[in-house]
Amino acid sequence: MQRAWIFPVVLVLWAGSPAASRPVFQTVAGDSYASQRAAMVAEQIQRRGVMDARVLEAMRAVPRHLFVPEALRNAAYEDRPLSIGHGQTISQPYIVAHMTEALEVRPADRVLEIGTGSGYQAAVLARLAREVYTIEIVPELAKQAAVRLQPYRNVQVRAGDGYAGWPERAPFHRIMVTAAPERIPQPLIDQLAPGGRMVIPVGTAEQWMTVLEKTSSGVVERRTIPVRFVPFTRSRAG
Ligand code: SAH
Repeated sequence: MQRAWIFPVVLVLWAGSPAASRPVFQTVAGDSYASQRAAMVAEQIQRRGVMDARVLEAMRAVPRHLFVPEALRNAAYEDRPLSIGHGQTISQPYIVAHMTEALEVRPADRVLEIGTGSGYQAAVLARLAREVYTIEIVPELAKQAAVRLQPYRNVQVRAGDGYAGWPERAPFHRIMVTAAPERIPQPLIDQLAPGGRMVIPVGTAEQWMTVLEKTSSGVVERRTIPVRFVPFTRSRAG
């Protein structure tokens, strides 16, 4: 009677194939990209040393293919950044995992992200934190990301220059910046809660991922890995 079992399973997979039009939260069986995501986590992320179980779970869960342009959907789980238009990119999966692990997000945290881009990193953060606020300087990208992030009820998207942070919602326990400034913007350091932590790529030609902690004895910075991010731009008004 094995055949009777094979049939329903196949039907479930079929029902899940048009993943793009389905709600973001769905069962693993209904998500045809889930196995690609599991491979991405094992081969690109765990193999390079990311170990935090909550981060790995979030990366296995968020449907990255829904955050890239439709034409690139089949490349969504490849080991590289992808173009999202307007000269911007969605980061390589490993870089998203490395930054998220370095941020050490706790379930009750309020998190600020600068550089929404596709919205993918914000979606990963949304699974780990209580509230996520994210700012994107390209209005068109902010608008698209807000639509994609609708299922994530704990995320708010704002269009604008993130240099000044989001003062109405400060302080933040955690801040992540996904575009590289020459120096860490002082307003972002100011909006970090005591004991808070920021992860930010810093530099121009040469860039280093930098972890900043606000301790009782002052601000402490350390570098993790060399990276290559799009520049942190400023609005003309700013
Ligand atoms: N976190 C994104 C990666 C985006 S790439 C993702 O998951 O897809 C970096 C983004 O930062 C770009 O979209 C760029 O437009 C934006 N950016 C650059 N300077 C900025 C600024 N001053 N304020 C807000 N966003 C900025």
